[in-house]
Amino acid sequence: MTGYTRGLHEVADRVWAWLLPDGGWGWSNAGLIGGDGESFLVDTLFDLPLTAEMLDAMRVITATSPVRGALNTHANGDHCFGNQLLGADVAIHATSETVHEMRHGSTPERLRSLVEADLGPILSPFLRDCFGPFDFEGIAMRGPDVTFETRVSVDVGGRRVELLRLGPAHTSGDAIAHVPDCGVLFAGDLLFIGRTPIMWADSLDDWIEACDRMIRLEPEIVVPGHGPVSDVDGILSARAYLAHVKSEVEKSLHAGHSWREAADRMDLGPFATLPQAERVVVTTYHAYRRARPETPQVESIDLFGSMAEWKLRRCGTPS
Ligand SMILES: [Zn+2]
Repeated sequence: MTGYTRGLHEVADRVWAWLLPDGGWGWSNAGLIGGDGESFLVDTLFDLPLTAEMLDAMRVITATSPVRGALNTHANGDHCFGNQLLGADVAIHATSETVHEMRHGSTPERLRSLVEADLGPILSPFLRDCFGPFDFEGIAMRGPDVTFETRVSVDVGGRRVELLRLGPAHTSGDAIAHVPDCGVLFAGDLLFIGRTPIMWADSLDDWIEACDRMIRLEPEIVVPGHGPVSDVDGILSARAYLAHVKSEVEKSLHAGHSWREAADRMDLGPFATLPQAERVVVTTYHAYRRARPETPQVESIDLFGSMAEWKLRRCGTPS
């Protein structure tokens, strides 16, 4: 199995994962698929220095097989804020939902202002822990060039790469990249390996179904959006987490608890020791929004506040 070290790892014939430990907030993976005379990139990173470091390391491949196409798996900044460093001739793909979320999601300026603001002794340390390590200077958002609804097949120098929309799951528009000839699947943030998933859409059942669809592709190698390279077992463990949270949420719904009570009471069972356990607050909120659409809408900054408070109560520190 591929070691979990920062840098470029060839996971199959002319397919590379770019890994960025420790896989926590913002520390995301990416990928490169090589064909004859051209390459295809899966995701850019959270800031320009991180993305430049990755593209430099890829130059041993891209000098002779330049990047001609790319995928943004979803709209979170740690998968697309580096887009401007790709050449103007690179066709960036994304689902139409992802394009919509990029237009309406958190901007680099917003994240930087949140890190710099004084938002109190609980939320500020939490936000600095999440986003403080990154450099949000100079990012000019570059959106995708090619949008698709459910799937598109891309020819990468004679090699077929399938881009499949499996969201809503982690976000509304999640897509994966599948390389059938070698069984490699780039899952984006449908998979956090060794980390707690977080759900930003009202889509727990859909995410479980997305896991089943990934399993049915029978991949040999699975590159998650965060964490080490895995295989079908990694998908199964993510599915088990989501099914566990679903069952706990259903108990709380049945008992008449609010979403906040449900999150406070959440018994994470075997998943309690996963890093970023506090993300279950956001997942619970969105599961409630699906089950009870009358649940009042909560701004994302308030969800971060709720995560920080949950973490303080459970772990004794918000950061
Ligand atoms: Zn991510």
